[in-house]
Amino acid sequence: MTIETGVLNLIRQTVSGMESEIIDFLSQLVRAKSINPPGDTITASAVIQEKLKEFKNPYEIHSFDDDKPNIILRAGNRKGKSVCFNSHMDTVPVGDISKWKHDPFGAEIVNGKLYGRGSADAKGCAAAMLMAARVLEKAGIQLNGGLDVAIVSDEETAGSIGTQYVLDAGLLKPDLVVTGEITSNRIAIAEKGLLILSLTTHGRTAHASTPWEGVSAISKMAKLINEIENTLGESFKHKRHSLTPPPSFNFGLIEGGVAVNVVPDECRLTMDRRTIPGESLDEAEQEIAGIIERVKKTDPTFDAEFSVVYRANAFETHADSPLVNSAANVCRLMELNPQPVGYQQVSDGRFFADKGIPTIIIGPGVAELAHTPDEYVSVAAVIEATKLYTLLAVELLESADCADSL
Ligand SMILES: [Zn+2]
Repeated sequence: MTIETGVLNLIRQTVSGMESEIIDFLSQLVRAKSINPPGDTITASAVIQEKLKEFKNPYEIHSFDDDKPNIILRAGNRKGKSVCFNSHMDTVPVGDISKWKHDPFGAEIVNGKLYGRGSADAKGCAAAMLMAARVLEKAGIQLNGGLDVAIVSDEETAGSIGTQYVLDAGLLKPDLVVTGEITSNRIAIAEKGLLILSLTTHGRTAHASTPWEGVSAISKMAKLINEIENTLGESFKHKRHSLTPPPSFNFGLIEGGVAVNVVPDECRLTMDRRTIPGESLDEAEQEIAGIIERVKKTDPTFDAEFSVVYRANAFETHADSPLVNSAANVCRLMELNPQPVGYQQVSDGRFFADKGIPTIIIGPGVAELAHTPDEYVSVAAVIEATKLYTLLAVELLESADCADSL
């Protein structure tokens, strides 16, 4: 549908009148520490709940762990389609504090940039999504369907008791999903998958003065690393996706051995493998299994196995799907770039996409700043996102009419 000029102007005016309220809310949210790990989001959740008390629409709290609440605001009605706006209130740790020029929990605003841990990832998105629901209330815009705004915990540590929990519990049953993560307000329709593997090589211990009596698990791991690099390097040459970075792997952790003068009998390696949409995690696992089997055949003293630590599927929503087209309409209306992009990291959007629900990722903030010192979000981008989310709700759930302002 096309949003009527009257509705567009009403939304623009309402958001303009709420700018300081939106930024105040975001500032309070940034000041409320919600570092994950450990993932305690009680303070941030309290800030959100305090704000939601001003709203007309009801909200619910659903927690698997008491200190990691998930908040769902229920807007619109239950009769038509259901749209979920989803973002998170937990943040990564501050890191080396000496690298910060701004207080990570100060929410200082300098030259239009609001600084703080989580300001962009993803409190800017969360604040804008919640305030979009408030804009609809204040403008008296009725939706022809349900809008659930789910602001969860546990996103930074895999989401099993955040988005996955509320989704599996049947508390969210959306037809369409908009995940709030930093994309510079661009429509992201694809993200890479993640497979974390723990690989172990086994050897035989011996004194370092007679190493030929033993088998070094570290040397065997070096051999395995070399094989993985060669094999994946070759297979990646033919794997490309137009919107995401290429497939990749990283050996992030390694440990083995007990002393310098002992031949090590065990070595463990943790590996991060990113898949592109269209590449399955099973395939990626089998590739590693195949390499291990191949080395075993050529080297009778080679003994290794691996286990899966974590799996997150890649996903892609079709560029011609109604959800992406609607988001592109809104972007055009706002004179923003409507061309879809890929999302660089792993988002909670995958939980919905895994269930076959069309999902896009969009939100204010520059991706490169996430998880870094002096993280910030542009105040103007948060206001822009508030407008964007409001218009998107209207576009997806065709507003019924404009009732009297509340
Ligand atoms: Zn995030």
